[in-house]
This record gives sequence, C-alpha cells and structure tokens, in this order.
Amino acid sequence: MYTRFTTDDYKFTIAKQGSSTYTKTSFPTHCGRYTEIETENFVFHFNLNKEILRAKSKCQNWGHPHEWLKRTQGNDWVYYSTGGYTGVFEATGEYYLPNFQYPTNSILGGHPFTCHEITDVIKNWHGEIERIEKHSIHSPAPLQEFLNNAVKNTPEKLDKRAEKLFELIEGRISVLPPDARHVDYNLIPLTISKGCLYKCRFCKVKNNTPFTEKTTEEVQNKIGQLKQFYGDDLRNYNSIFLGEHDALQASPELILSSINEAYSSFNFSHSYVKGSNTFLFGSVTALLGSPDWFFKELGETGGNTYINIGLESADAETLDKLGKPITPRLVAESFSRIQEINTNYPTIEITANFLMDEDLPANHYPSIEKLIRDSQTHTRPKGTIYFSPLKFDQPSRKHLFTFNRLKIMSRFPTYLYIIQRL
Ligand code: SF4
Repeated sequence: MYTRFTTDDYKFTIAKQGSSTYTKTSFPTHCGRYTEIETENFVFHFNLNKEILRAKSKCQNWGHPHEWLKRTQGNDWVYYSTGGYTGVFEATGEYYLPNFQYPTNSILGGHPFTCHEITDVIKNWHGEIERIEKHSIHSPAPLQEFLNNAVKNTPEKLDKRAEKLFELIEGRISVLPPDARHVDYNLIPLTISKGCLYKCRFCKVKNNTPFTEKTTEEVQNKIGQLKQFYGDDLRNYNSIFLGEHDALQASPELILSSINEAYSSFNFSHSYVKGSNTFLFGSVTALLGSPDWFFKELGETGGNTYINIGLESADAETLDKLGKPITPRLVAESFSRIQEINTNYPTIEITANFLMDEDLPANHYPSIEKLIRDSQTHTRPKGTIYFSPLKFDQPSRKHLFTFNRLKIMSRFPTYLYIIQRL
C-alpha cells in the first residue's frame, strides 16, 4: 500500500506500485515497487533499498518528457531515448533506445551524455535529495525515515556497492544476453560457470578464463549471498542470469538445480513482478551436446528460459576470418536443433546471433539468408534472430540499411543486438 505526501514544493509517493508485468508500450511504464519524489525540476525514483534508480529533469531542454535515466546494479547510468521515433521499435523490439557511457556496438542513437541537462542530473541528484532531507524536519515520520536513509546512499556508496556485487559474482558481467531486454535487464546474476570454450578472435567481451563450472554447493552459497545483497529490493526481481559466457555448457543437473534453488530462495512467486525468467548464453557445442531430457525438465521449471546462441555466420570463410572455431555444418545443425526445441517447448526460447560488418566475405549474408529465410516455409513467432554489429562505436546508415533488408526477408522476429553490461 503506497503512502502519498504533498507539500508546496514536493510530491512523494512511498512504495508506489508500478506495473506488475514487463510490457512493451510506447509510453514509459516502470515495473515493481519504488518511491517517487517529484520536485519543481526533477522526478526521482528509488528502489526498496532506498537507492536512486531512475531520474529525469523537467527542464524544457530535456530530450522528451518520456525519456529518462536509469541507474543499473553495476552503477552505470543508461539514458533511454525515444530515438526520435526513427524505427527504434522495429530495430530493437523495444520502444526506448538505451544509450550508454561506455563503448558498445549500437548503430542507432546520438550522444545524449554530451548534453549538460543529462549529465547535470547525474551530478546533482544527491545534492537535491540532501536539500530536501534538510527541510524535512516537520515532515511525517515515514517520509523523514525514507529521506534519512536515501541520503546515506551517496554516489560513492553506490559505487562501492556495485564493486561488492562484482566481487560476489567474481567479476563484472561484460555482456548480458539480448533477450534480457524482455525484463529491461533487471536480473540477478548467478555465476554457475566461468569462461567459454572457443575464445573467438573477433570477440571483445571474452576473458582468458578457460571454461570451468561451479559446484552445486558453491552455487547454493552464492544464492544465499545474493539474497542478502539484494535485501529489501529482492521483491522487485523475477529473473536470473546464469553466468557467464556459456552456462549451457555446465552440466544439465547443475543448470536445473541452480534455477530451481534460485526461484525458490529468491521467492519469485512473491515478487512484485509476475512470472519468472532465466537468461543464459550457450555455445554450439553446448547446444548440440544437451540431451532431450534436459530441455524437457528445463521446460518444467515454472518459468520462461531464454538461451542465446552465438552462431555469427554460416559461411566457412567468414567463420575463419572471425576466428570462431566452428563449421557451417555445425551452424546448420544448431539452427535446426534450435527450431526443434522452440517448437516443442512453449516456455523455452532459443535465440541466435549473427554478425554484421561491411568487411566480411561475400558469402556471409547469403549463408545467413539460407537459414533465416530459405530453410523455413512459414514465419515463426519465436526464435528471435539478433544481428550484432562487429565494430563498436560506429553508428552507420549502411548497417541499418543492411539490417532492414535482412529483417524484411527473415521468417523470424529479427532485431539488433545492443551489447549491454551489468
Ligand atoms: S563469442 Fe562467445 S564463445 Fe566466442 S570468445 Fe566471445 S564469449 Fe567466448
């Protein structure tokens, strides 16, 4: 039940209940429960740990009244823009385009962090809260209590807290699966394995760790620590990310026990956001090596599972150039296995990534077209195909043109993969 207070200068809604489902709407909807403070110049949202979560300015030069800043658990500020309505939804599957302060592969968007209206909010939000707190001496007790705690969560403290999370999960997650867009990347990272099998030459997000998986006991301990870390705000989560780069390569038993244990320990059935989801990456080797019984049990965990597989190309010369140690035959086999699983298990969606770059060999795009168009007789409602630009920080009209051509002829939902870290 929310509590509302209004003064001449501010409006406060403590424990405001936002949407209970993630929905894709052209106007901003925010999920879960949060506290909203509206002043003459700003709107701030705080999570249930009283940490800043979102902010926007009400000044005239703010990009659009629907645009806002969000702070992630990794303490990054992300600016959600409407993209000027230039086909953002068609390109990304979302109405708002995330803009980051770090290099990524997005080919859309501008440079919002060069606008002082935006950077001023990041610089000044805490000063604003301090000012409000100082004037709250005669405010009702719940409001004072909220402000006294919120003001303690300084930018420095939030930075330290993000570091603590990275320590807990043994390093920052350099990339999240594209499917995590379905929950606006609000997920609890649970590392069940480290590293990956291939160490592809082109990949900018890999690490040097050879693939290793955790033990069940280690995962159980992590779940307990994460539960403590998320604290009161745990109830705003309904999703996990099984890390790291190839969790599907972990043993089926470990994957299933980790999901079941996480859903029950994190108490997702009592989350303020309905449903539950698991996101993970998988390699071609892991996918082709996973037995049928595993997918059957995965389909019965009680939540939705999204597995993202990096195929990159179906052309031998391209795979060779990329330094991806798989063959076109394995890519074709994986593609057909993906369709089989997507058809047979309603709660599992396996999605695939392909790369885009103008310097790739001539057969790269024709080889992908054979899979995403010629191999299918009908359009498919699931099994999203993501195209990921190879180069970082190079917005390009030519890329967008190529992407639109691929999207039009694809028989699958087809979107751009914008790399986002945690
Ligand atoms: S693309 Fe995937 S498998 Fe290849 S190096 Fe990067 S993380 Fe590892």
